[in-house]
Amino acid sequence: MATIGILGGGQLARMLVLAGTPLGQRFRLVDSAGDACAAQIAPLVQADWRDFAALEAFAADSDVVTFDFENVPAETAEWMAARTRVFPNPAALSVAQDRLAEKTLFGRIGLETPAFAAVDSREDLERAVAATGLPAVLKTRRLGYDGKGQFVLRAPADLDAAWQALGGVPLILEAFVPFDREVSVVAVRSRTGEFRHYPLTRNWHAGGILSASLAPLAGDPALEARAVTHARTLAEHLDYVGVFALELFVHGERLLGNEMAPRVHNSGHWTIEGTGCSQFENHVRAILGLPLGDTAAIGTSVMLNWIGELPEADAVLREPRAHWHDYGKSPRAGRKVGHATLCGDDPRELADRLERIGAALGRNEQVAPVLAALRAS
Ligand code: AMP
Repeated sequence: MATIGILGGGQLARMLVLAGTPLGQRFRLVDSAGDACAAQIAPLVQADWRDFAALEAFAADSDVVTFDFENVPAETAEWMAARTRVFPNPAALSVAQDRLAEKTLFGRIGLETPAFAAVDSREDLERAVAATGLPAVLKTRRLGYDGKGQFVLRAPADLDAAWQALGGVPLILEAFVPFDREVSVVAVRSRTGEFRHYPLTRNWHAGGILSASLAPLAGDPALEARAVTHARTLAEHLDYVGVFALELFVHGERLLGNEMAPRVHNSGHWTIEGTGCSQFENHVRAILGLPLGDTAAIGTSVMLNWIGELPEADAVLREPRAHWHDYGKSPRAGRKVGHATLCGDDPRELADRLERIGAALGRNEQVAPVLAALRAS
């Protein structure tokens, strides 16, 4: 039995604990919030990322340390790595924390990206817009997630407002991609170098936050093979250990890298019930150097995210092969408080159940694009 320390105590930590406990592993968490939701099921050290006295005891207690939160300061990750094993390694984490470093690396490994430029001043912004054209997306290089720290520029008149909203920290301007689809590949690389990937997942966002996922993305094995090759190259280049997600835009024949999440990822939540070994269990296996588990999809799965507040569970629970996840968080606008996964062998029958759930919960809008994709498959 190992003791696994997790930096961050949110729902990802919670699902790691739920997956790793049957393997006989023990967990410890660090989070600055005393009410972090994973603390309901594992012991929590309440400390911030620079409380090195508290972190010292935590490091001494942990055989291996990992993350549920990608924005742990690089210096804390490195400090931790000097004391115990840390996976993924701090250098990989640090690339994934900076959108500029990340996109530069994508280019280096042959993964196309939207045109981009660093923006550190108002003049840089003018120059960058002249180079990428409009529309474009201005983003903070660091600490952005779920669409936070982003501004879409549609006309030259928007430059002032964008600079007002985000100026003052390092930024990146990206060409806006009128993508056909957003997809992600969730993959895992073990301490032993073993690599596996889950099927390509299609994702829909609302207000910059993941709203729904559908997997596997049927009918395009060539696209999946390209995405997986990029994921594998990236993992090997970074000597990455653990689960990660590579988020991509599909635009015609083009496959463009958006970002890499150096952790288990929301677009892989369906793997809990939709595969033989979930992303959470495989992350635990990978950081312990255990053989990786089966990543093949069992039928088709749809994941619906619950943002802000949980809907009524009954409409989901009364359906067959429907799974409810309540993260134990209090409701708050924009907060991920739970999800549901619906599995099935026949996409059309799955669509019928999804439609019933959408109607019962008053969430027709959330399920509509997934229904269209299922019925077209
Ligand atoms: P991000 O935090 O970079 O993953 O962005 C959140 C969401 O905003 C993405 O999943 C896309 O839906 C959208 N988005 C981000 N960057 C771009 C872009 N360059 N072009 C079009 N849409 C984008």
